[in-house]
Amino acid sequence: MTIDSNHPETIALHAGWRADAVNGAVAVPIYQTTSYQFRDTEHAANLFALKELGHIYTRIGNPTTGVLEARLAALEGGAAALALSSGQAASAFAVQNLAKVGDNIVSSTDLYGGTWNLFANTLKDQGVEVRFVDPADPDNFRRATDDRTRAYYAETLPNPKLTVFPISEVAAIGREYGIPLIVDNTAAPIIARPLDHGAAIVVYSTTKYLGGHGTSIGGAIIDGGNFDWERFPQRQPALTTPDPSYHGAIWTEAVKPIGPVAYIIKARTTLLRDLGSAPSPFNAFLTLQGIETVTLRMERHVQNTQKVVDFLANRSEVIKVIHPSQQTGEMRRRADAYLKGGYGALLGFELKGGLEAGRRFIDALTMFYHVANIGDARSLAIHPATTTHSQLAEESQLASGVTPGYVRLSIGLEHIDDILADLERGLAAAGGA
Ligand code: PLP
Repeated sequence: MTIDSNHPETIALHAGWRADAVNGAVAVPIYQTTSYQFRDTEHAANLFALKELGHIYTRIGNPTTGVLEARLAALEGGAAALALSSGQAASAFAVQNLAKVGDNIVSSTDLYGGTWNLFANTLKDQGVEVRFVDPADPDNFRRATDDRTRAYYAETLPNPKLTVFPISEVAAIGREYGIPLIVDNTAAPIIARPLDHGAAIVVYSTTKYLGGHGTSIGGAIIDGGNFDWERFPQRQPALTTPDPSYHGAIWTEAVKPIGPVAYIIKARTTLLRDLGSAPSPFNAFLTLQGIETVTLRMERHVQNTQKVVDFLANRSEVIKVIHPSQQTGEMRRRADAYLKGGYGALLGFELKGGLEAGRRFIDALTMFYHVANIGDARSLAIHPATTTHSQLAEESQLASGVTPGYVRLSIGLEHIDDILADLERGLAAAGGA
């Protein structure tokens, strides 16, 4: 069912589900089943021919996962969603759904490292070229575009730089050519809605804030339903020419009776069918549980983070704090244009004393978890120079904004006094005052 509300607080609790028709269960049941009995041969034939929508096999769809998908689509203001087993699967599918051997996409350089590896190595091996450009100048996307460019890709609030992506500027360039902008909004659910600014597709690692409790790896793609794939048909052959993998269906034609969902239906019925990155119903349930409180949690994450930023900005051990609230000029304008509910809950800071200070800081923390993750209800810290960025040559670390003394924090929901007390321990150990 659809909920008649534009308020994320209400959507997060109600979209996609109202008490189960048989038992009246209020919480979404976990449909822990692989398969679904067909009523008769006609029903089965209709399902396979996409004449009727319904469940066939949990690799392709599941009722619990379906509620998660409906809820995510409603939260983002999109037409439909596809839940996947990880954020990595979501990023990969989002691109593979449009780009084939010999095609290319243009991507922002400011990306999660796992996405960078996927783009620079695995997609390249599969024959898809990713052209990386600096998003500081949106026109870099236009300059890198040619006839085989199928998508633009970016993150709303990429770490470690934490400079907000110029969503509407780049989406507008893409729409001139029939190229959709895909935005990974993992770091900014609720506080940013990329579809409202012209993005066509949103990607999530639900592992982070949406799930919110560090229990379940998951991902999702949301189809904005706001992109005219047929306007430049030669630009998007994957959706506008017959697909031999689905008895010659032309996706933009085939879905007309059900809505502007060609992109997401193709991803489900071809990529998910063939590559199989389906979430488990149990993980879908846990992610839904998380989403019920995501609006409240984001509010507190953001409040606590701003207090931490103000605390660190006044410390003599700290050279600088990296957070949208500390930015000026065009970077700050973008943050204010796209982040509507605060500046996010990730921050970086650079310690005096470089690598060793970073190590001492992390090793002295007693409450923050030292993990390679973000978006948990608990506060998390990592020192990129000794972990995620240890393989990078010093020069490229600097290019990505990571210096040897850089520490990244993902601020949780604990009482602010306890968060600051733990940071105080770290700073005392780091020294350099
Ligand atoms: N996108 C971003 C921005 C991320 O931070 C991550 C994970 O850290 C991913 C995608 C990949 O998600 P997952 O770990 O769920 O595969």
